[in-house]
Amino acid sequence: AAPPSSGLLKNLNPEQYAAVTAPAEATLILAGAGSGKTRVLTTRIAWLMQTGQVSPGGVMAVTFTNKASKEMVTRLTTMLPVNVRGMWIGTFHGLCNRFLRAHWKLAGLPQGFQILDSTDTVSAIKRVIKGMKLDEERYIAKQVSWFIAGAKEDGLRPGDVEQHDEQTRTLALIYQAYEDQCQREGVVDFAELMLRSFELMRDNQAVREHYQRRFQHLLVDEFQDTNKLQYAWLKMFAPPANSGRGQAVFAVGDDDQSIYAFRGARVGNMSDFEREYRVKQVIKLEQNYRSFGNILDSANALIGHNSRRLGKNLRTEAGPGELVRVFEATSDFAEAQWLIEEAQALHRGGIDRKEIAILYRSNAQSRVIESGLFNAGIPYRVYGGLRFFERAEVKHALSYLRLIENANDDTSFLRVVNFPTRGIGARTIELLQDAARASGRSLYQSVGAVAGKGGGNLAAFVNLVDSMRNLTQGHNLREIIEQVIESSGLADFYRTEKEGAERLENLAELVNAAEAFVTQEGFGKDAVALPVDELSPGAITEGLPAAVANAAPAVPDAETGEIMSPLAAFLTHASLEAGDNQAQAGQDAIQLMTVHSAKGLEFDAVFITGLEEGLFPHENSLSDGDGLEEERRLMYVAITRARQRLYLCFSQTRMLHGQTRYNIKSRFFDELPEACLKWLSPRNQGFGSGFARDYQDAWQRGSGLKSMVGAGKYAERPAYAAAPVPAAMVKKVDEEHGGLRVGKPVFHNKFGEGVLLTLEGSGADARAQVNFGRHGTKWLALSVAKLTPIE
Ligand code: ATP
Ligand code: MG
Repeated sequence: AAPPSSGLLKNLNPEQYAAVTAPAEATLILAGAGSGKTRVLTTRIAWLMQTGQVSPGGVMAVTFTNKASKEMVTRLTTMLPVNVRGMWIGTFHGLCNRFLRAHWKLAGLPQGFQILDSTDTVSAIKRVIKGMKLDEERYIAKQVSWFIAGAKEDGLRPGDVEQHDEQTRTLALIYQAYEDQCQREGVVDFAELMLRSFELMRDNQAVREHYQRRFQHLLVDEFQDTNKLQYAWLKMFAPPANSGRGQAVFAVGDDDQSIYAFRGARVGNMSDFEREYRVKQVIKLEQNYRSFGNILDSANALIGHNSRRLGKNLRTEAGPGELVRVFEATSDFAEAQWLIEEAQALHRGGIDRKEIAILYRSNAQSRVIESGLFNAGIPYRVYGGLRFFERAEVKHALSYLRLIENANDDTSFLRVVNFPTRGIGARTIELLQDAARASGRSLYQSVGAVAGKGGGNLAAFVNLVDSMRNLTQGHNLREIIEQVIESSGLADFYRTEKEGAERLENLAELVNAAEAFVTQEGFGKDAVALPVDELSPGAITEGLPAAVANAAPAVPDAETGEIMSPLAAFLTHASLEAGDNQAQAGQDAIQLMTVHSAKGLEFDAVFITGLEEGLFPHENSLSDGDGLEEERRLMYVAITRARQRLYLCFSQTRMLHGQTRYNIKSRFFDELPEACLKWLSPRNQGFGSGFARDYQDAWQRGSGLKSMVGAGKYAERPAYAAAPVPAAMVKKVDEEHGGLRVGKPVFHNKFGEGVLLTLEGSGADARAQVNFGRHGTKWLALSVAKLTPIE
């Protein structure tokens, strides 16, 4: 059937139309990148509601990232006049959090339970290992955390873990002790959110029946990356037996984009789903609406090298578009400079910065790119890596806030008990921990057990936390956070610290983030407890003051209807808000992220960096065929993010983990159709062909010598100094830059005094290279950086 020419369903192709309007029974959409899977899923929700088949409260939709769920909510609001706030749309973790907030008591959690992010989890496990007096070199906290998360994702509690030797027996003991500790402190880690919700659904018939009655439609995006527990969880909410009898599961996925096998994702869930739910027809979408032909042909050719595929094709009507540009750099530094210049050129050509993405295989690659962007004064935003909420000063402030909310949170207690310093040494803390362990109480509760001066200081700390709690009564979130930053002593501490200014800015940003949270999530003073999303049939969540998009924190308690305090909700948000850098949220900034976190997203222009053997494909994957196929799928994901322009680059040398590596280009280049590529550097030249070649590159891409010198490799890195830049070729621009002279001292607000090494470019492109001694040598954009000559 052809889609109607107006309304929600216009512009859909016939296959998409069939998918959107599929009958209310189990449906699987299997289709390649950019074919409209997410769009179909979103449109289906809107269509179901518009045609009165379901109320907003009867829908649950699972997305893979917070960003994706926000986007879905935004798209829905533009399609429908319905209040989407009552809907359960979010990530698996976000939805589980919401579920546990409503049923905390049944789940055996304290009402204000807090969530450990992955760094907190590792430090909590480290404490357990220490407490058990185990060999910390043998039981490495990070590895143990993977073990525990893996066990939880397999649905295993400590008693279920297979114990066949001393090692596994000890791991099970650590797992058990860690669980006890979390329970005592009232905290849960990410995997626990899932497992706890699953178990509650499994073990409590009333809850299970309620939700099965309630959710008539469950929709899951990126189904290929669900793990065993997530699939089991889903089956609790909509068991196969209910399929077509009031409950319908709509799953969309792409086997070629399965990239989380290393974290337990099971592509096999797709075929299990098809079989267990007796899916009548698998709908395939073959038209790609995202990318131009050369980009799509590259993606198709590449993924064609994988043997284990379900098999599907993608075509486009968009025409070939630009060729895929390939650039070979001599160093990671030069690579960064090149892509920054290219990105700037795109931006000047009219592409928004936020439509430009720089992707990398491993987080460690971002540092060089970030410092290049920073020095050039170009706004950028990093997803993943060290997130805003994970920065030390922000975590310190959050820890005080958490202690106000829940004094028994030992992780937070330990983080700030002596920060800023208040004379509480390691010995005192050990005594305190021993006392707490002996009595099975929290650190906070055990303070009285420590005698002497240390004990006195501990008591003073506890008084401080108590007085902060009292001071914040009756205040709004902004005031609470400002109050805590001051009275904790953090503000004073950073005021006197040398590099404290930036940290103070981040603390101010935390206040802003809270403010934004309050407005967005409806936690303003008018927020009232609305109808409870509870166990009595018929009630719906429509009109709740909570945002559903993400953590949906303002879920009222299932029994009392009490809505979490704004502070508790904000703290939850801070733990769940993975990868969102609030500090730079609204700005038009270049997007930096790993390929993994780019899944599902799209950009006008995409740079894929570090395409070198050992890096991409990653060396850890090369030992077996499955690993290589997963890397290839990852590359497929990366390529298919691009709408108009795609750039691939690699570098002959790279500093990684403190070592210079000499690289050869990725095998993936040999798997791309030559006709789609345009090499910006001559092909097949070995390492070190030197200046002449770079010179040619620079001209080939039309930016001339300027960029080459700008890349700094001849000027800055001794290793490349062999072929000096002929003096006559360097543009003399001294006179353009208000009194700045090469070789003379200059002053910069942030980096202080330095010596000017190079000046080049003009107007908006003008830049200077300055040696700041202790701060190192930096390239600065003169349009941004304020440099004053020192006479
Ligand atoms: P991925 O596998 O990367 O997640 P996807 O299959 O989910 O991709 P979408 O993100 O839903 O694809 O769609 C890709 C792009 O194509 C989006 O910009 C979407 O708006 C657009 N699009 C999808 N279907 C149509 C259509 N029928 N007409 C016009 N544009 C469309
Ligand atoms: Mg998608």
